[in-house]
Amino acid sequence: MRRLRNVKIVATLGPASSDRTVIRALVEAGADVFRLNMSHGSQEEIAARHRIIREVEHQTGRPIGILADLQGPKLRVSRFKDGKAELQDGQKYRIELGKELGDAERAFLPHPEIFKALKPGSRLLINDGQIRLRVEQCDAKSADAIVEVGGTISDRKGVNVPDVVLPIPALTAKDKDDLEFVCNLGVDWLAMSFVQRADDVAEGQRLAAGRAAVLAKIEKPAAVDDIDSILAEADGIMVARGDLGVEMPVHKVPVIQRRLITTAQHAGKPVIVATQMLESMINAPVPTRAEVSDVATAIYDGADAVMLSAESAAGDYPVEAVATMNSVAEEVERDPHFRVRMEALRPAARPRVADAIAAAAREVAETTDIKAIACFTHGGTTAQLVARERPRVPILALTPSTRSARRMALVWGMHCILTHEVERFKLAVVSAARAARDHGFATEQDRIVVVAGIPFNVAGTTNILRVAPVDERLIYEGEPE
Ligand code: PGA
Ligand code: MN
Repeated sequence: MRRLRNVKIVATLGPASSDRTVIRALVEAGADVFRLNMSHGSQEEIAARHRIIREVEHQTGRPIGILADLQGPKLRVSRFKDGKAELQDGQKYRIELGKELGDAERAFLPHPEIFKALKPGSRLLINDGQIRLRVEQCDAKSADAIVEVGGTISDRKGVNVPDVVLPIPALTAKDKDDLEFVCNLGVDWLAMSFVQRADDVAEGQRLAAGRAAVLAKIEKPAAVDDIDSILAEADGIMVARGDLGVEMPVHKVPVIQRRLITTAQHAGKPVIVATQMLESMINAPVPTRAEVSDVATAIYDGADAVMLSAESAAGDYPVEAVATMNSVAEEVERDPHFRVRMEALRPAARPRVADAIAAAAREVAETTDIKAIACFTHGGTTAQLVARERPRVPILALTPSTRSARRMALVWGMHCILTHEVERFKLAVVSAARAARDHGFATEQDRIVVVAGIPFNVAGTTNILRVAPVDERLIYEGEPE
């Protein structure tokens, strides 16, 4: 099941996509990574979906990534006397610490940290930013605010506080419990929600302890400002446009999206563009033209992956949504202008041997008639350095590690193939040549570039590049011991 595109597709699973038939159909339509959203669904449901994904992976023989998305410190108002209350523009409104029932004069918030961080002038955004309050005065237990934009406030609606860095950790007790649960199940990526600073990611890394790679969701202004240090800690990022568009004016989101994609690409870490990509397909078999264009834009900008949320988790057309993304991706990547973009976005050379080898592999492959770049990779570093170059030819990531293969399913251009452990470079070249031929990337008449790090079992030692014939006899004849 070879994909004819470099960008990857992440599909969120949910009630609309929990049975084996649908999950299999999603893989066939183009899903490379499945997202299990820990904000919805019990641990039993998550475990059942996880089991089916692994069974489908076994049937299709194609490594599938699983990303568990931790809920994070999602703040919510308490409940209301009548379940809801109407707020008028310009009225005064009081927020108090507690869990009592609110009304049209005041609401309760069970989060003392919010009151600690609020200042006069801070905004409180409720229900995805539909209701906007501005604080006039506040203390450790209450805040008096003006309603700038009113509406219906109701039980347990989400609260965003964009103007301050909240003194809260990015992992709640529920997140830590979910993290252990999914790491024991065996997931490839952990996404952390509402990351505010690099230390949040470091804490996630400490708890994951190498069992899963850690992806920081960028959905707070503070995280956008601190992106370089967050990227240094994280294994990848998500442009989480839903909450980002609540915390910041929506017109800033496209500019930030583009900047985050390039920053992550240059750091050599995968970046997912997420939320509302094909929103109308929740209820319709065909997307809007604007949505199609949005998916295309993310691909032209060099994103590693595009993501479906409710479209695949709870919509009426989950398989059609994946198929749509797949078709858009194939069409965009056939456009000669896509190559022009990838070349324009190419990162500057870095003064390290591993980077230089990756850049050289691309250069050799693109200037001579070479069909693929095959990388031997344990943890994925070598292959990710090649992906960072966004080469024109396919990247074959050969690895003896199932975990690495599944993790790299998220990375741009990566065709992951499981191989045996190899000790000698010549055998590595032979298995690369076989993989290229068997997976339809090259014929016996072709040549490939092989990149590896010797010794094989030491991470970050990318130091060898060979142009090799796919014809095995020629490998043996030409290869010195
Ligand atoms: P969510 O994250 O779907 O978990 O809220 C993505 C986003 O905010 O865009
Ligand atoms: Mn979010």
